[in-house]
Amino acid sequence: MDTEVKSKNFIEKIIDEDLANGTYDKVVTRFPPEPNGYLHIGHAKSILLNYGLAKEYGGDFHLRFDDTNAKKENTEFVDSIIKDVEWLGAKYVGGVRYASNYFDQMYELAVKLIKKGKAYVDDLSADEIREYRGTLTEPGKNSPYRDRSVEENLDLFERMKNDEFKDGEKVLRAKIDMASPNINMRDPIIYRVAHVTHHNTGDKWCIYPMYDFAHPIEDAIEGVTHSICTLEFEDHRPLYDWVVRETEFPNPPKQIEFSKLYLTNVVTGKRYIKKLVENGTVDGWDDPRLVTIAALRRRGFTPESIKKFMEMTSVTKSQSSADYAMLEYCIRDDLKPKAPRLMAVLDPIKLVIDNYPEEQVEYLDAPNNVENEALGSRKVPFERELYIERDDFMVDPPKKYYRFFVGNEVRLMNAYFVKCTSYETDENGNVTVIHGTYDPETKSGTGFKGRKVKGTIHWVSVHHSKKVTVRLYEQLVDEEKGVYNEDGSVNINPNSLTVLDNAYIEENIKDYKPGDAFQFVRKGYFNIDPKDSTKDTPIFNRITSLKSSFKLPKK
Ligand code: ATP
Ligand code: MG
Repeated sequence: MDTEVKSKNFIEKIIDEDLANGTYDKVVTRFPPEPNGYLHIGHAKSILLNYGLAKEYGGDFHLRFDDTNAKKENTEFVDSIIKDVEWLGAKYVGGVRYASNYFDQMYELAVKLIKKGKAYVDDLSADEIREYRGTLTEPGKNSPYRDRSVEENLDLFERMKNDEFKDGEKVLRAKIDMASPNINMRDPIIYRVAHVTHHNTGDKWCIYPMYDFAHPIEDAIEGVTHSICTLEFEDHRPLYDWVVRETEFPNPPKQIEFSKLYLTNVVTGKRYIKKLVENGTVDGWDDPRLVTIAALRRRGFTPESIKKFMEMTSVTKSQSSADYAMLEYCIRDDLKPKAPRLMAVLDPIKLVIDNYPEEQVEYLDAPNNVENEALGSRKVPFERELYIERDDFMVDPPKKYYRFFVGNEVRLMNAYFVKCTSYETDENGNVTVIHGTYDPETKSGTGFKGRKVKGTIHWVSVHHSKKVTVRLYEQLVDEEKGVYNEDGSVNINPNSLTVLDNAYIEENIKDYKPGDAFQFVRKGYFNIDPKDSTKDTPIFNRITSLKSSFKLPKK
């Protein structure tokens, strides 16, 4: 039994108190993405946090698109977000929700504010509004239109809705306090005229609510109790509270902020990822070098590994940054017992076993995962001609090199001991073929105890293997230079992608499915790229190496 008691995070403590003193009797949380890009690892944190809390307290979790900014949104993003949330295993109650479905209620609540004398239509231009707003050190000035009568405001707001004004000609503002030390409270704009077609409501509206007005109302309409967001909204909380109070929701939600998840030397901001996609630096939003959820899935990360990662990164109010290496740790930990192991030679050189009969093929037993017997075993074809990794042979080995060099004996994994006898070179002195002899007594699985060898290497048969393409990845960002330049561009690592198109894997891998993950022994975890692979030509992505010191083979 797991006796470890996890200490509660600060949000759980707030919820405990709210339930104990009867502020709420059921927890309702939500994930409110703006459909203006693909979700990334930071969003996964928010999804799993909100879903996790709802689950922990027997409450509900909602998925709601914050689609009030019609300009930047589209349905490709909506579809990808739904897919990602479901893939992460976050079960949302009541179907997919859209803020835009509440536009009628929002309009009515704006009218209610006008009637209470809490909102007014302003004719100032955007520039003038900015000027009147003041600064951090100076209070703002009241707009000359601030004291319009309720009747006039009602009439003008209705005419805004009825398409009588151009974009920017009029706005509706909350009447709060132009001298507030919090600039967000200086009569924020709550509705603006915008002639844009909305992905959900089409051309029904030519006025749209602003985020700070819409968001608290969306939460309140849905009965959300704890509206969890990231720290940059801390200064907006007084406005959030003002909106739900003045619109008179009986049991208003509570906004709680936590710090964003950042990964060191990794591009996480949606804005930056979008730029890399748009300028063609990467191959779409799901390029396996990105940390969008779609990219992580394509690369071979599992929902379980991402959940584990989120458990390891805490929920706090202080800014911090996690290491990508930790994410790699989580996927290794998840795949170690699950993924079948195979032999694959990424950078091949031929080994000829001169004393092995020509034309003979032997099928040797190999366990599929030495740490999980349930995965069974397979037969691996062995013959006179094999491929081994180029760097498993050296002409002039340094001390403590236990692999092939002339005169040395090595164990071929799941097969025999083979002694290296000679090698051939081309006219440039490059090694082209290695020769050796095997000892039939040393067959793997026979319990041979005659002598020991220090090195064990993997191999595949030349005539019974499959040639495949393997993609190796390094960090997208050049860590030496730092992630961002002053102009917001990203320093790209020129070696972030290496394509090996002369790799060989065991021919066994016939019934593969796109997305399946394997351990290539000694080389790392790989999955079959679900986008570019076809039935006959799997393309492998390296998810992660086995150790972080993995070196790319030289081309
Ligand atoms: P980005 O910062 O990448 O541009 P965003 O905040 O604009 O993302 P939204 O769609 O508005 O993206 O965010 C949906 C939810 O995800 C919000 O509640 C937001 O606070 C949360 N979120 C976004 N980025 C992170 C992050 N790095 N860590 C934790 N939560 C995040
Ligand atoms: Mg945002």
